[in-house]
Amino acid sequence: MKKKQKAKSGFQFPKYGIYIIILVIFLGLQIYTSFAGGSEKTNQNQFFDTFLKNNDVEKIVIINKETAEVFIKKDALSKSIHKNVSSVPIGKSTNPGPHYYFSIGDLQNFEKTVNDYRERQNLDVITEFESRKDIFGTIISWLFPIMILVFVWTFVMRRFSGGSGGGGTPTQIFGIGKSKAKLFDRENDVKTTFKDVAGLVAAKYEVEEIVHFLKEPKKYTSLGGKIPKGALLVGSPGTGKTLLAKAVAGEAQVPFFSLSGSDFVEMFVGVGASRVRDLFQKAKAKSPCIIFIDEIDAIGRARGKSNMTGGNDERENTLNQLLTEMDGFGTDTGVIVLAATNRADVLDKALLRAGRFDRQIHVDLPDLKEREEIFLVYAKNLKTDDSVQVDLMAKQTPGFSGADIANVCNESALIAARKNKSHVSKQDFLDAVDRIVGGLEKRSKIISPKEKKLIAYHEAGHATVSWLLEHAAPLVKVTVVPRGRSLGAAWYLPEERQITQTDQILDEMCAALGGRASEQTIFGKISTGALSDLEQVTRQANAMVTIYGLNSKIGNITYYDSTGQQEMSFAKPYSEETAKTIDTEISSIVEKQYQRALSILSDHKDKLTAVANMLLKKEVLFPEDMEKIMGKRSFGNDTTDPKSLTEETNVPVSESSTL
Ligand code: ADP
Repeated sequence: MKKKQKAKSGFQFPKYGIYIIILVIFLGLQIYTSFAGGSEKTNQNQFFDTFLKNNDVEKIVIINKETAEVFIKKDALSKSIHKNVSSVPIGKSTNPGPHYYFSIGDLQNFEKTVNDYRERQNLDVITEFESRKDIFGTIISWLFPIMILVFVWTFVMRRFSGGSGGGGTPTQIFGIGKSKAKLFDRENDVKTTFKDVAGLVAAKYEVEEIVHFLKEPKKYTSLGGKIPKGALLVGSPGTGKTLLAKAVAGEAQVPFFSLSGSDFVEMFVGVGASRVRDLFQKAKAKSPCIIFIDEIDAIGRARGKSNMTGGNDERENTLNQLLTEMDGFGTDTGVIVLAATNRADVLDKALLRAGRFDRQIHVDLPDLKEREEIFLVYAKNLKTDDSVQVDLMAKQTPGFSGADIANVCNESALIAARKNKSHVSKQDFLDAVDRIVGGLEKRSKIISPKEKKLIAYHEAGHATVSWLLEHAAPLVKVTVVPRGRSLGAAWYLPEERQITQTDQILDEMCAALGGRASEQTIFGKISTGALSDLEQVTRQANAMVTIYGLNSKIGNITYYDSTGQQEMSFAKPYSEETAKTIDTEISSIVEKQYQRALSILSDHKDKLTAVANMLLKKEVLFPEDMEKIMGKRSFGNDTTDPKSLTEETNVPVSESSTL
């Protein structure tokens, strides 16, 4: 908008004006010289046989030993043969010449012929020599390449800076060093407030303080306190970090510069640092304001850890510049830097020290109550009917982030619209969860009856084993309908717990291996269908041994490195011998659980077969169906409200196995 207004007001010099002016002057000169008594081209024959013979020539000037300029005598100009060159220039009585010019060829020959004529006819022709420099031509030959270079440079730089939007100045030749931060201010709308952020009570409480700092800095500084320069929001993707930062800007009514850590990175050395400088300069000009750097780990990773490739120098320079800038501005400038990451552990310690990002605000995945609040925020915008209960939806979505929930709500509206409904109902929500977790249903996928039987026994294996194990997560449904990339699945509702005990992990592993064990028990051979199960159990066994110290042979030792240093190094933190022990222990844990699953299934082969047959018939089984075959599950560790699963059990919440 602003740019347009600027273009309208006042005179704007045309973009290529300078080139047009040069061209006009050049053409003007050409025209002037050709009209103002210019000379005419002739040839040697005419010169000798006509001009010299008739004694019309007063003077010959030989230029640079190449060209002869011919001056005709005044009285001869009136002859009809010279009428073309007799025109008189402005301000003169006659045309002073030169009147003709021609190329002389060999100088010696020419001179000789002229002398012959002179002697033979007793002529009084004067011959003069002159050397001339073509200054205009020389200048052009110098300027032309320079102009081409400037043109190419301008073009290239414009291309590079073209991507920078918002705060950047794309049309500037050197815009590449400008920061790419997007500015939201009162004109650009920072309308997000704390009301838009559901849940996150603790995080909100902490950031509210930042709003106070921005609104009333005096209150804090008058007592000698220093306003923090930065706060780091730490949490998984989609938990609302950006939303929270925007809400701070919205509440404090200050401009908000938003950019991602990777925006600093460019293939040119020094660009990152220059962008950091530019960003802080712009921010200071707009103070009080907030700078929000998303995914700060892109530049903030600990320095000097991976110097194998020179490419990291640029990142380090950028980080150093960021550290310097954060030190550089006083606490009274009113610029607060908020940054978000999900890997606070890999950040450089210098970044986290007091005076820079001295506050860390944890934004966790929402718990049951918070999910309910987030559902409320998004369901408000939908046309729902009475069947929708947000508390039930919150229960069915453990492990979902705020962004996932927003997605569920949106997807449910799309599903309802596809069914031509006037309102979004509970079933649409459940279908949306289904779809988001498992992918699109693919009933049309061609599966042979033999494969279908194999899939049914595999899934029945999972369902049967998990039903019989105390610590396995409660089953939600088991299906042989292909969905996304899986051919069948058993869905569980995992317990929301902070600490997991050894037998809980082992039971989960055993249930995961139930699919393959079932294939072995029934068909006597195994298939490739258990890939994702194997992936899961290997990861769990590995974590038990190398991370959580849950293995007696390895003992209370962890090889986990929260600083992220190990990721870059090739050296293992343990000896060859320990490596061997780790390998044997991992495979022994997995093997033990596989044998356990095998023995459970061979003890309950009849039940397994019944479940598989029912699955082949109905395609989807719910806990009630399982109960009919297996009897009531005797363990009371169901975290789910039974009511939520009895009538509406079509809820795949956490995919645990695929075939
Ligand atoms: P992050 O920056 O943590 O990756 P975002 O803040 O970009 O996540 O969140 C993505 C989207 O998810 C937001 O735009 C918002 O729609 C939704 N969202 C996430 N958390 C919440 C929440 N607590 N309340 C409301 N909406 C949320």
